[in-house]
Amino acid sequence: MNKIRNNWTREEILKIYNEPLMDLLYKAAQIHRKNHDPNTVQVSTLLSIKTGGCPEDCSYCPQAARYHTDIEGNDLMSISQVAEQAQRAKSMGSSRVCMGAAWRNVKDGPEFEQVLEMVRTINKLDMEVCCTLGMITENQAKRLAEAGLYAYNHNLDSSEEYYKEVISTRAFQDRLDTIENVRKTNVTVCSGGIIGMGEDVEDRAGMLVALSTLNPQPESVPINALVAIEGTPLQEQKTISIWEMIRMIATTRIVLPLTQVRLSAGRTEMSHEGQALCFFAGANSIFSGDKLLTTPNPDIHQDLELFDLLGLKPQKPFVKKAQPKTIEKEESNLKSLDEKPRWTRPKHKIERNESMRK
Ligand code: SF4
Repeated sequence: MNKIRNNWTREEILKIYNEPLMDLLYKAAQIHRKNHDPNTVQVSTLLSIKTGGCPEDCSYCPQAARYHTDIEGNDLMSISQVAEQAQRAKSMGSSRVCMGAAWRNVKDGPEFEQVLEMVRTINKLDMEVCCTLGMITENQAKRLAEAGLYAYNHNLDSSEEYYKEVISTRAFQDRLDTIENVRKTNVTVCSGGIIGMGEDVEDRAGMLVALSTLNPQPESVPINALVAIEGTPLQEQKTISIWEMIRMIATTRIVLPLTQVRLSAGRTEMSHEGQALCFFAGANSIFSGDKLLTTPNPDIHQDLELFDLLGLKPQKPFVKKAQPKTIEKEESNLKSLDEKPRWTRPKHKIERNESMRK
């Protein structure tokens, strides 16, 4: 096992990122092999349980109500729809379901109760359940934990400095506060970001400083490559090269040795060879299904072919941490507090976001 360091500096991380590629790959692969089975990759399924109409202004996101995109909005899915999709995902080798709702923050009420029931339902299918629902309070995190939630996703997106260039409707500190609320429970933390939004390499290192200095480090870190969607402020952004993704994955593996590193959005642009190098560098999870929330993703059959080619096995659920126990609603002592938390609304304006508003 590698010793976990929570004091990485930006300079140290930049030095790792910029090492000659063969050295970087060799170091990352050694750390990966020490801490994980290199021939096992977790297959996760991302379900958009409530799509579009989001009040936030994330400049990469087609679900923001303020931008002109082709996204078809959907109200919250029914519990039976979610159960059916989770079952189907399980039969295709998926061990984790991540449910995403395009909300700024969770509001206590019937929709949250419905999500809690979805968590109970999927946990009973013996799959890891993850949610990404926006900002949450401590009580909401505890209620999700009781329902049997395994992980909560809340991405830092980029460095604290570059975050201000991408989102103006909430602050970086709000992200950290939500992660802290999750940490008050047994639910594991999933938090990562996106590269290719116009940030520089220092920002990528800055994001990894923010993630690796969390104590404990997040159990899961998704690394996404921006998929530029027409109608969003980042629509003109060029696709990043595979080499940048490989460097980012390898660096993440080195500074977060025990974490599940997830090769996330952008895989449709990556060759099998490119993805194989990402796995070698330390990625040990992918998302399956032809949609990643709303962005395109390789078809599961293509992924199974890739697994076959590389001799990879899908990871079983609960390998890293025991399955949480579901407490039924009637047995729970935790109640809705009808909270109206005051998450921040920073005052700064992002010109490119403003120029794309409806
Ligand atoms: S990334 Fe999430 S919070 Fe941001 S606009 Fe999209 S759905 Fe809303």
